[in-house]
This record gives sequence, structure tokens and C-alpha cells, in this order.
Amino acid sequence: VKTGTKNDYLFFNKTIEYQSIERRLLESAFRIALKEKQFYLEYQPKINLKSDQIIGMEALVRWNHPDLGTIPPGKFISLAEETGLIIPLGEWILYEGCRQAKEWQDKGLDNLVISINVSVRQLEDPEFAKKLTQILEETKLAPEFLEIELTESVFADIQNTISILQEIRAIGVQVSVDDFGTGYSSLSYIKHLPIDTLKIDASFVRDIHVNEESRAIVRAIIHIANSIGLKVIAEGIELQDQATELSIEGCRFGQGYYYSRPLKIEAFEQFMQKRLVT
Ligand code: C2E
Ligand code: CA
Ligand code: CA
Ligand code: CA
Repeated sequence: VKTGTKNDYLFFNKTIEYQSIERRLLESAFRIALKEKQFYLEYQPKINLKSDQIIGMEALVRWNHPDLGTIPPGKFISLAEETGLIIPLGEWILYEGCRQAKEWQDKGLDNLVISINVSVRQLEDPEFAKKLTQILEETKLAPEFLEIELTESVFADIQNTISILQEIRAIGVQVSVDDFGTGYSSLSYIKHLPIDTLKIDASFVRDIHVNEESRAIVRAIIHIANSIGLKVIAEGIELQDQATELSIEGCRFGQGYYYSRPLKIEAFEQFMQKRLVT
């Protein structure tokens, strides 16, 4: 590849320029989307691997753009984080997830726990615990039916994180560490953390049925979780074999396409109904 010519330089600059225009367009589209309620949630069931019963669901946000169609979170969450727009979006997600969970409870669908992804930026908001309390009061969802999922990156600033997590758990809300095993020095600090659940990252689940190293990592995570009294759930289960091996290793809960993709409200209700009659 030839580099360093004047043309390449111009081309490079143009690309950067296009990128920043694209970003600004996306950012203004995002502000409109918030106002016009173009976001919605899908719900992926969480399953007891032994009994096959549904124990809860993870809420996953989608953007339904009038021209572009459905945009996955991978395309807009980091922009929302960089611009601070994750604060109003995240608040709406928490409210809508809690409201929906309460509606399902009132309809007689079991008392399912709703898991909601919360970004580091939201935790940094000094009002976060207060907002959480308000949302629970407004939606009348009992706090023990809400779990927040945090990625390990949250624990970079460990001191600050511990005190906010203590506040959250004092409210009665559960805390889960998402993508567990992918960050740094996870095992050495988890015993100090006020958390309830470790969520084994999909990368270890993917080849657990064929790869001894992945299996050994899963085994170690489950062993540690058991010895300090944490629950364990595995994500990204796509095959029966993966579910079987996880179960053999002592993992009690899981989620993934093998059980169900994330579902819109009606489809989730149908999934629940089918489970109740069979
Ligand atoms: P995550 O929290 O790790 O969510 C799991 C992702 O894996 C979801 O992608 C889910 O649809 C997908 N998934 C579930 N089961 C399987 C499976 O068996 N195989 C495969 N290949 N994938 C599976 P999604 O919905 O595109 O979300 C991607 C990421 O975006 C999430 O990763 C999370 O980090 C973020 N995200 C999604 N919704 C929210 C939200 O409401 N708030 C925040 N802050 N972040 C969110
Ligand atoms: Ca998650
Ligand atoms: Ca995850
Ligand atoms: Ca992930």
C-alpha cells in the first residue's frame, strides 16, 4: 500500500470530516429519537438450566428509526455514553423495564426478575440512587425484582463504585457483573464487592463443549462464586451441548438463542404462555 502522498492525505482528512458529520447527524437524530420515543425494549428470557423454568428476563434496548429501521445498541450506546445522552436514555430504559415487569406481574406471569443494563456513565451520576428509588416508587415494582447488570469496566474506580453499589443494594436492588471473566484481575477483587451475581461471558460459553481451557475457566468462576455466595448465570448459550456442559459444571442459570432470542412484548408473553401449559 502506498502511503504519504498528498492524495492519501486529502482522502484521509475527508474521511475524518465525513465521520464527524456522520456523528453529528447521528447525535441530532438521537435527540429527536428520545423526544419522539423511537426507542423500545426487547426481553430475553433467563432460564433455570435444570428445571427449564423462566427466572427472569434481560431488557435490551433497540432504536426504531423511521428511515433506517431497527438499529442495534452496538451502533448507538457508545455514542450515547460519549455525549451524555445515555443519562436520559438510561433513565427511560429503567423506567420502561420496571413498568413492564410490574405489568407482567399484575397479569399473573410469575414474579420474574428484570435485569437492566446500566452504563458506567449512569453510575457516575450523583443522582443515580435517588432516580432508581423514584422509578421503583412510580412503577410500584418491588426492588427485589430489579437487577442491574454492570460490566467490569465499572470497577476501574473501585472505591467510588463500592459506595454507589452499597447504596443500590440498600434500596434492595440486585447487582450483576456482566461479561465476567473478560476484564482484568477480576478474581482478586470480587470478594470485596457488594454484588449478587456473576454473568459468565459468552466467549467462554461458545466453545465450552469442545475446549478444555474454556471449561476450566467456567469451572473456576463457578467455584469462586459458590465459595463466596454469589449466583452464576451463563450468557450466549446457542446449543444444547453448551447448556448440558454448563449444567454439569454446576451453573444453574443461563440465557441465549438456544432458549430464545430477545423478544418484543407480545412474543415474550406468548413464550411465557407456552411454558406455562407445557
Ligand atoms: P450484553 O449486555 O452483553 O447483552 C448480550 C448481547 O448478546 C445482546 O445483544 C443479545 O441480544 C445478544 N445475545 C443473546 N443471546 C445470544 C446468543 O445466544 N448468541 C449471540 N451471538 N448473541 C446473543 P444486543 O441486544 O445487540 O446488545 C449488545 C450490547 O449493547 C449489550 O451487551 C449491552 O452491553 C448493550 N446494551 C443493550 N441494551 C442496553 C441497555 O438498555 N442499556 C445499556 N447501557 N446497554 C445496553
Ligand atoms: Ca447484559
Ligand atoms: Ca453480557
Ligand atoms: Ca457483551
